[in-house]
Amino acid sequence: MRYYLWTIGCQMNFADSRKAAEELEQLGYQEANRPQDADLILLNTCVVRQSAEDKVVGRLTSLQGLKRHKPEIKLALMGCFVDEIPELQHRYPWVDAFVKPSDVSAIVELARQRGIQDPIPEFPTSQDLPPVSVGVPISSGCDHLCTYCIVRLRRGPEVSRPVDKIVSEVQGLARRGVKEITLLGQNVDSYGHDLAGIDRQTTNGRWSPDLADLLEAVHQVEGLARIRFLTSHPSDMTQRLIETVARLPKVCEHMEVPVQSGNDTVLRRMGRGYTAALYRDLVARIRAAIPDVGLATDVIVGFPGETEAQYRATYRLLEDVRFDMVHVAAYSPRPDTPAERLADDIPPEEKERRRKAVDQLQERIVGEINTRLLDQDIEVLVEGRHKGKWRGRTRTNKLVFFDVDGQDRTGQLVLVRITRTGPWSMQGQVQEAAG
Ligand code: SAM
Repeated sequence: MRYYLWTIGCQMNFADSRKAAEELEQLGYQEANRPQDADLILLNTCVVRQSAEDKVVGRLTSLQGLKRHKPEIKLALMGCFVDEIPELQHRYPWVDAFVKPSDVSAIVELARQRGIQDPIPEFPTSQDLPPVSVGVPISSGCDHLCTYCIVRLRRGPEVSRPVDKIVSEVQGLARRGVKEITLLGQNVDSYGHDLAGIDRQTTNGRWSPDLADLLEAVHQVEGLARIRFLTSHPSDMTQRLIETVARLPKVCEHMEVPVQSGNDTVLRRMGRGYTAALYRDLVARIRAAIPDVGLATDVIVGFPGETEAQYRATYRLLEDVRFDMVHVAAYSPRPDTPAERLADDIPPEEKERRRKAVDQLQERIVGEINTRLLDQDIEVLVEGRHKGKWRGRTRTNKLVFFDVDGQDRTGQLVLVRITRTGPWSMQGQVQEAAG
């Protein structure tokens, strides 16, 4: 039996897909490279922007013909596309199962119905060695009410996984050779607030664990080299968390803290719950505690009513803060969100102009930041081969490539002297194994 997997969207979706693939392989399934070669097709979807939703619909439409010719292939659709299931069944009758975001067990159930081959006990075959770096969901859903965002409507309120469940998953991954884990959630900084009375192993003076407690617990797992977490929310990031990141050696100097806008009126209309000044203060506190931190952010341009001056405030904030990475998106109205009721009054070409300008600014800034790394020896965790080179990441999440040297470097921490830099990646030469 074979499965074909197609995933778009956030890291949570990719983590869910990895889990689904792992469970299918335990059932004896193998991965197919083309949908027509599969017995089970799984589309793991995103609708955070209209463009993502369009891709899902395109994919679904292209699979309609295949299902007509090969109706025995099971087609399952998971992720944030899944809303009102009866309506979806009516619109896409060739889909066999619609599965809510992250409900991997429903996929496994569908696969069981399709027939089981010899179950394989542990990680399946040598060609499917575990990846070096794996995302581990620590919570689902979100409690924030950002007016533009569909995620809460599709994934529901925030539900945290208990600390011991996460730690035992991480222990299992480390035993299999995983070197780096990224703790994932729509808002990891509010992790644990719903776990009051369930898990009392806290050091934070409250009855529920927080992300700092979780980092401490995961940090004790043997065999792990690095820990990351994303995404943060500026209103929920505590000083205690910042200090914990600064103190724990395995926790990387890397944070993703979406700002969305640099203008207070727009931030208020987005329902973000902070001002640009508070955001700038947060960045200053992060940098004071973790001087070489790699900072990433998300920005939306062209939110309803965003004036040129308001957009310029965002641009200025990006110039001042100098992020290592900016994910910039043009606003797109999402069904049933509060912002959908506002007039989407910034013309598409103007949104695109603002988006491109932010991209260009960021390319210049990150190019300058990376130039300063030239001739430095930097620790890189090697993730694998790419186009004849070894490819890895720095602790600050920058991509580094270096020459293949006859050794299998996969999963190794190596010191790389940076010999060339660009905005999106760097090249270097190995100095020695870093540990
Ligand atoms: N924790 C994140 C935060 O604090 O905003 C949430 C991650 S969100 C699911 C991913 C990103 O998609 C957001 O940060 C935002 O920039 C973008 N996004 C969400 N809704 C959008 C919309 N309607 N139009 C354009 N971009 C959107």
